[in-house]
Order: sequence, then structure tokens, then C-alpha cells
Amino acid sequence: MKVGLAFLPAWIPYNPPLGITCISAVIEREGHEVSLFDYNAYIYDQIKDKHGELWLMDESPKWAEIEVFKKEIYPLIKTYLFKLVKDILSQKLDAIGFSIYNSNSHPTMIVIQNLRRIFPELKIFISGARVDEPLATELFKLKLVDAAIMGEGEQTTTEILEYWSSDEERDEILGAVYFNKSGEVIWGKKRPLLNIKDLPIPDFSKFDLDRYTSNGFPVEFSRGCVAKCTFCSETNYWVSFRTKSARQIVDEFKYHYDNYGVNQFRIVDSLMNGNHRLLEDMCDIILEEKHTFYWHGFCRISNKLTPALLKKMRDAGCTYINYGIESGSQNVLNLMKKRYKLSEILETVKHTKNSNIEVHAQILIGFPGETWFNFYETLRMLKILRGYFTRIYPGIPLSVTRQTYLYDNLDEYNVKLGSGEKWRTKNFSNTYTIRLIRHWILKKYLKYINITQGYPLEVE
Ligand code: SF4
Repeated sequence: MKVGLAFLPAWIPYNPPLGITCISAVIEREGHEVSLFDYNAYIYDQIKDKHGELWLMDESPKWAEIEVFKKEIYPLIKTYLFKLVKDILSQKLDAIGFSIYNSNSHPTMIVIQNLRRIFPELKIFISGARVDEPLATELFKLKLVDAAIMGEGEQTTTEILEYWSSDEERDEILGAVYFNKSGEVIWGKKRPLLNIKDLPIPDFSKFDLDRYTSNGFPVEFSRGCVAKCTFCSETNYWVSFRTKSARQIVDEFKYHYDNYGVNQFRIVDSLMNGNHRLLEDMCDIILEEKHTFYWHGFCRISNKLTPALLKKMRDAGCTYINYGIESGSQNVLNLMKKRYKLSEILETVKHTKNSNIEVHAQILIGFPGETWFNFYETLRMLKILRGYFTRIYPGIPLSVTRQTYLYDNLDEYNVKLGSGEKWRTKNFSNTYTIRLIRHWILKKYLKYINITQGYPLEVE
């Protein structure tokens, strides 16, 4: 089949998108012809001079809140969304897939609605972190999509395309919701997890690499997370923690270097240190084979990141680590189920910096149960460690999102949902306004103690 895979804004366009490239690698191996549409980077490139800041993470609520999106963003990108519709139609594709996450769901829906209206025969499927049961139910009721991939996309997409290519009926396709040949909606059971060691190396050669704001490629060591922080959907989405082998990871770096001259890598995993043994083995191979690679990514605070391991990481090319510290209050860390002590944060951050690896960290304001005193404790921690941080990401105040323990256990946290971001605790001790005030204070405080903040649009 002729298949398109599309990725829409807004996501900081550092590198080509990994998700659709991974799916593309697998379905191409099955003989399909694939076109990739990175309209996230394309639209950014078109309007960056005047509106590039809209791709900053702090601006994601503008893309996610429908009324704000319609008023402030849609007029700026409308032309490009219709260009995408035309591009897709001009390629005479049999099927088109969209990767959906929180901040691109509105632009993606606009493109899907128009494709459906103009070319009803085109098979449309969706995948990505935002695709869940409520969304699939709604889209099938409106007959806007032909299939929704729940969870990891590689094998399920392959089977959906195989099903559409054949006249044979099937009882179900694991991991997919789809219209069968009689027009009934079939909900496939969950698909067993993929062994990511079997996946091919993603091929970024189809992207216009000049459009990206950094020179590296994204690489995946693992899927999933070893922790179960209550506000985070990573563990629910990926289900269990799986890794490639150390040899495979180094070979993937080598492949990109040998084929494209790229030796900078953004590790996109939930965490690079889910398996410290693997991390160390990978560093050993890089050092033994004397490669010059530069890489960075997220880590979980852990006393297993010893000074010796951190030094080895630095020698093997780790330039910075982004820690999901979230809070300087042990009470809040416990409520989040971060499963580490404040003392571990202090030690890990100091050891990292002393190993010559830059320390970046994320702070998450407004977890239910965070008091004003707990908030002060976070500011105090930032002050104590200020000489160790290169950059802090204050992000946006906490959203209560689906597929998290918090969302599934609102009563346990005394939370009442409101529209969009406007949840509150039942006793009003934590409201949208209180979170905005704390977030504002945090940003001012970071400025005051002279710590660079926020994700820049360009790195490396
Ligand atoms: S916040 Fe980080 S450590 Fe916690 S579950 Fe999510 S990815 Fe894992």
C-alpha cells in the first residue's frame, strides 16, 4: 500500500520525529511505500520568525485548549493545514496515519475532518500517546477514522495495513480499534508488548534535516519506566520497562554517524538509567571502541548513579542529564511516589555536576497536597543547589491527565476535575489560581537566583 505518516505541531522541532519514523521502518520492511509529513517542523519553519515561541513548552496549553487554539493559533497555521491536506491528496495514498499527543490534537482533527470530507475512501488511522478509549469511541461514532492504534504502533499498524490490503475478514487485530469489512467497530484486545530488540533502526533520510533546530538525531534505549510516579502516564502507556542491548545502542549511534555524519543524540527515553548495568555496558563499548559521540537525556534521581558511573558516562559523551526532580519537599515527593529521599537529590545532583556533566532539572508545581510550606521547601532546595544547575524547566503547573494513577484515583488525592487545566482540591487548598501564582513565583525566583530556565528552541 501507499501509506503516509504525519506529525503535526506543536512539539519543539529539535530533531526529526521518532515515533512515525519507527513505524515507517517496520512497515517499509513489510513492503509498503511510505511518505512522511513532518508538518510540525514545516509549519515552525514557515512562521518561526514571528511566532516561533508558540513551540515552546510553556505555550502548549494554547494548543491544547480549544477556545484559545481557535482564536490565537488556528488563524496562523490554517494555510499550512490545508496545504497538508492537498499534499496528502496529491500523493494518491491508500492510507494516512497521524501521531496524536496532547498539544497537536486540534490541528490533527482539522486535517482529518477535511480529508474525510474530500476523500472518504482514504483509510485514516491514528496512534500516539493521546489515543485512548474515550477518544477512539468519539472518533468512531463520528466515522472520522478507520482505525485507532492503542499503545505501541509498529506491529499493530503492520496488521491493520495487511487487513486493508486483503479481502479476508479477521476476528480481531490486537491493539487496534477498527471498522471491519461489514462496517462494525471491532475492539481488539491488548497486544502483548513488543520486544524492542527486534525493531529496525529508524531511517531519518526522508526528512529535510535543515528544518530542525539541533543537529542530532533522537535515539531510544528503552521503552517504559521502572517507576510509577502518580502524575505520569509513561508507565501506563508503555506498560513495562524494556531495553535494547548495549551493543545495539552503540551500533545505532554508529549507523547514524556512518550514514549521515551525525554524532549527537537526544535520548528520548522516559529515563536513561532504568537499567544502570546497561548504561554502564554501553559506555564501556563506546570507550573501548573509542567513538566520539555526544548524548543527553532524562535520568531518574538514584544513588546508583555513582560518581564512578557518572564519570564513565561523561567520558563516553554524556553532555547533560535532565532529572525529573519535581519537588524539594519530601512530603510532595512521597505523594508523587517518586521513591527517593531529598538527600538522594542533593547527592546525585552534586555528583553529576562534579563529573562535568551539566545538570538540568524539571520542577512540577501544584501537586495535590503541596502546601505553601512545601512550595517554599522547593524554592529552598533550588537555592541550595543553584550552583549545580545549568538549567531548570519549570514547565507548566500540574495537569491531571488520563492514563495516570492520579486521574484514576481522584478521591485519594481529594481532587475535583474542572474544565481543561482547572482542577482543584475539594477543600480549595489547591486551585488553578493558586497553581498559577506558585508557578509565577517559581519563575521569578529562578530569575532572581540566576538559573537559566525553560526549554530553548535551539540546543547543542
Ligand atoms: S515521572 Fe519520570 S521516573 Fe516517574 S514514572 Fe514518569 S518517567 Fe518514570
